[in-house]
Amino acid sequence: MENILKAAGLKKYYGKGDTMVKALDGVDLEIERGKFTAIIGTSGSGKSTLLNMLGGLDTPTEGSVKIGGTELAALNNEQATIFRRKQIGFIFQNYNLVPVLTVWENIVFPISLDGQKPDKKFIMKVAGMLGLEEKLDSLPNNLSGGQQQRVAIARALVNNPEILLLLADEPTGNLDSKTSDDVIGLLKMTSREFHQTIVMITHNPEIAQMADRIVRIEDGRIAT
Ligand code: ADP
Ligand code: MG
Repeated sequence: MENILKAAGLKKYYGKGDTMVKALDGVDLEIERGKFTAIIGTSGSGKSTLLNMLGGLDTPTEGSVKIGGTELAALNNEQATIFRRKQIGFIFQNYNLVPVLTVWENIVFPISLDGQKPDKKFIMKVAGMLGLEEKLDSLPNNLSGGQQQRVAIARALVNNPEILLLLADEPTGNLDSKTSDDVIGLLKMTSREFHQTIVMITHNPEIAQMADRIVRIEDGRIAT
């Protein structure tokens, strides 16, 4: 199978001298297209740092990240912003919805940033799969946590159906365990339908069990 993502010799050091933190200390990781990978590790093990490097949200101290053949370090700031918007969907623990926009407006927000017209039929399909069709006119504050995270998933998925990679940092961190299972189940189902690749961070072994592959990170290194 084709590897969609390839990280090699990835290091991220914060600070200098005595106070230096080696958040990542030599990570090699390849992610297969279409697979759902969970990255698991305790708090402070380097999970968020790794995800930020993989998504080009921050630059590594050393090493390289290639996504679909593009070397992230070769892009300037503007190119990197466009690359992220077109090729990567991000899902965060705190949903990051815009409170004054409706569910529908939140979902189409990244599309409008790109000056594109939303594909209404496709968006309705994704909203339906995620059980959001009745909530499209609601404001985020009137939704439960699980519903808000489903909106964030819809937003990441419809931004571009040809998106290469979906990166999620503790997407169920604010949800109870039943809701977490539901949300991850829906994420898995929709991403499979659209042949998307997911890399999800979690500290929760039960949630990680829902992935095709589990990668463990300890003290900034891959443990398994
Ligand atoms: P995780 O997501 O697994 O909890 P992080 O990747 O957030 O871990 O952090 C890994 C280590 O790097 C921790 O020791 C953390 O304190 C440190 N760290 C993370 N971000 C920064 C930063 N911006 N400046 C300094 N240290 C940081
Ligand atoms: Mg984290």
